[in-house]
Amino acid sequence: MNRPCVLVLAGLDPTGGAGLQADIETLAALGAHACPVATALTVQNTHNVLASHPVDPKLIRAQVQALTKDLPIVACKIGFLGGPAQAEAIADLIAPDWSVVLDPVLAAGGGAGLAHEDTLQVLRQSLLPKITLLTPNAPEARALSGEIELATAARKMLDQGCQAILVTGAHEPSLEVHNQLFIANHPPKVLDWPRLPATYHGSGCTLASACAAGLAHGKPLELAVEQAQAYTWKTLEQAFLPSDGQWIPTRIAQMSSVSLRSSLETHPPSDFPSRFSA
Ligand code: PLP
Repeated sequence: MNRPCVLVLAGLDPTGGAGLQADIETLAALGAHACPVATALTVQNTHNVLASHPVDPKLIRAQVQALTKDLPIVACKIGFLGGPAQAEAIADLIAPDWSVVLDPVLAAGGGAGLAHEDTLQVLRQSLLPKITLLTPNAPEARALSGEIELATAARKMLDQGCQAILVTGAHEPSLEVHNQLFIANHPPKVLDWPRLPATYHGSGCTLASACAAGLAHGKPLELAVEQAQAYTWKTLEQAFLPSDGQWIPTRIAQMSSVSLRSSLETHPPSDFPSRFSA
């Protein structure tokens, strides 16, 4: 199928910068079809998260079961888990043949904590063994593993069963951003990126969803990660600032009036051009 279906389990961020909307936009831009299931509804603005209301795990189960009976899901992207009961439900629902990308969202960009220790326990014990690619930033990798040194942290999490880990380095004090890809039984690969000046809302969601899109298209993991990084960097370089908070990545190219007009000329509605001639 040329538009593979990707199940997305993540939180709803009403700013549209992070969470489900970031995932849907990214997957759509990269030629995949997102099937979004909310793990939590949040109250937030582009400065910080003010509250989070987890969705009943029974509802998450019912939605995923309805989807999997119907749609050919090939991959899954998991973001904000909501809480320990939601994380347990998600671990139960993952099918063994999916490529699964998990972005462990532990804190909002504005600093608000989004995951308690009980959720982290479920993540480590029940979810990690089912994950194809984990995409923590450096503080998340340290919090999940209890290790300071990032290579040691990654090795510990690989030992817990996930197949690969991309540790992002934007929170580290280096001049360039050094992302590191750790794959079981392979030497680590450093992927350097020019540092951009702003802080972004939804950059981690964008990167993880872009990786899920590549895997859903059947790309090898290393290639999927490299292309996902290139895409994400572009979305950040072209980000926009809707208020005085964080920048929001531009994940979907705007259709120009020229390309809109030419697509209408190829497939005109019955009353074209009168309705669209402006
Ligand atoms: N998902 C939700 C629902 C969020 O509210 C946030 C951050 O506020 C994130 C994910 C993570 O966002 P980022 O990609 O900026 O780490």
